[in-house]
Amino acid sequence: MTTKISNWGNYPIMEAEINDFSSIVEIDEILKTKKQFTIRGSGLSYGDASLAPHILSSKKYNKILKFDHEKGQITAESGTTLDEILKVIVPKGWFLPVTPGTKFITVGGAVAGDVHGKNHHGEGSFCHYVTELQVMMADGQLKMCSPQVIPELFKIICGGLGLSAIILSVQFQLKPIKTAYIHQKNIIADNLDEMLGKLQDFNSATYSVSWIDCLARGKRLGRGVIMLGEHATEEEVITKHLFKTHSQPVVKAPFYFPSFILNASTVRTFNYLFFNKHKIGSQDFVVHYDPYFYPLDFVKNWNKVYGRRGFLQYQFVIPFEQAAKGLRIILEAISKSGMGSFLTVLKALGKGENTLSFPMPGFTLALDFPVSDQIFTFLDKLDKMVIDLGGRIYLVKDARMAPEIYWKGYPNASLFKEQVGQLDPAHKFASALSNRLQMI
Ligand SMILES: Cc1cc2nc3c(=O)[nH]c(=O)nc-3n(C[C@H](O)[C@H](O)[C@H](O)COP(=O)(O)OP(=O)(O)OC[C@H]3O[C@@H](n4cnc5c(N)ncnc54)[C@H](O)[C@@H]3O)c2cc1C
Repeated sequence: MTTKISNWGNYPIMEAEINDFSSIVEIDEILKTKKQFTIRGSGLSYGDASLAPHILSSKKYNKILKFDHEKGQITAESGTTLDEILKVIVPKGWFLPVTPGTKFITVGGAVAGDVHGKNHHGEGSFCHYVTELQVMMADGQLKMCSPQVIPELFKIICGGLGLSAIILSVQFQLKPIKTAYIHQKNIIADNLDEMLGKLQDFNSATYSVSWIDCLARGKRLGRGVIMLGEHATEEEVITKHLFKTHSQPVVKAPFYFPSFILNASTVRTFNYLFFNKHKIGSQDFVVHYDPYFYPLDFVKNWNKVYGRRGFLQYQFVIPFEQAAKGLRIILEAISKSGMGSFLTVLKALGKGENTLSFPMPGFTLALDFPVSDQIFTFLDKLDKMVIDLGGRIYLVKDARMAPEIYWKGYPNASLFKEQVGQLDPAHKFASALSNRLQMI
């Protein structure tokens, strides 16, 4: 039986047959009976990375297999979510070494996307902390790999979007914490030069991310708020519950918002209010890890706000040397088009470590655009600017780029294709994304 399915952006929507598994025997069975499929975690990639006509879902393969709370090492089945892991590790004084902006992704998705967090500039991506992967290859063979054992396999599985192997379990190193709280400092930047200068000045902060008013123009272009964070000490926290974990989302978007709500003037008003709220608000405070790292998780299904046609998250990175010029050109084009995004996030990245890793030393900008008739042509234009500036588009967020943009942006695209071709010559593992971009 097939069902309609989409990832977080609600675009594209596909008809798919979905099979769950809760044991290795069940995966092996699917491997023998299905000609081609993709593996899916929580479906929190925005576009079509984990969509295909046949989907193997890891959601029931979600046990924590081992947790050494002396050494801070954990091993979990690939369908375990970061949310489930946080509930176990935080009370014992440990935190995730890297976390994206939602805690509901699976560890399999974290490895296959080689996801980054607010600490990428200093501490690298999730895979940097992975000490061992148990995987199943396309021919059913079970393998273990790590940065030391079969490192070439490790490097194409990390960030390899489920195209080289099925990740069964992940062992990784956690980060020690003294409390479950973050000491946050907000810094206002009134324009792009100030924003880039201050991001550089505060480069030694453990966590750093900026929100940008993407519709500001002229002297205000690139204005925004930099949010820095450090794990708080016992002395900084006024609570007895030093290791309190997060609660479940309390608010639910009740329905798909009608598209007329999302227009240039609502986006402009939202951005204006957001900027000014931060400008007059407290600049230095202690906050629980949940609102600092996962402000959007508070509203379940917030993706419905973008309406039934869905939305596209457009995330690119460009090298530092091109940042001042490149971000100005791109922000001017966005501001002029009026196709603004409610949430525009800017952050510095360090180097990528795996074959298809998205990060490179540079600035990454992520924007949300509701799907509209004009957006595709507009983003095609931005793609060309990004490529001319030596940048690339993030694959787990993408739903629409053309193959040549992928091939120009990822210097290891040919190596990836060649290595995946050797491991899986019949292309058992394929997704809508890999087909669209001719990745394998
Ligand atoms: C609100 C929000 C904020 C986000 N913030 C960030 C951020 O700050 N940084 C960042 O890097 N990303 C971010 N993301 C993107 C998200 O972290 C990644 O797309 C992640 O890969 C999603 O994991 P998932 O479990 O939902 O996997 P899915 O979306 O289901 O799949 C993602 C990819 O992983 C593959 N995969 C999944 N499980 C396995 C497995 N067991 N074996 C092999 N391959 C597998 C899939 O085939 C697919 O290619 C964000 C997403 C949302 C919705």
